Amino acid sequence: MIQQPLNGCPCCGYRTGCTTCPVCVLNRCGHRDTDTGAVTGRPNGEVSLRDARRNFSIYRASHRRYRDVVRPSRSDELP
Ligand SMILES: [Zn+2]
Repeated sequence: MIQQPLNGCPCCGYRTGCTTCPVCVLNRCGHRDTDTGAVTGRPNGEVSLRDARRNFSIYRASHRRYRDVVRPSRSDELP
């Protein structure tokens, strides 16, 4: 079976290919790559993609409350 390359997460950039990214716990359905400052309200609550990226650079999670939920990225998920 040939594995297709997965899309990169708009927050952390890792190619996890999931609806909710396990590396940063961002739900992709709430964000588009273009409107980075917009707060969509759900499913990521009050966090815009811009906030999520900043949080990821600090906490390695899209929100501080997800620090204990995220898992380390794997080498095959590198952007
Ligand atoms: Zn992510």
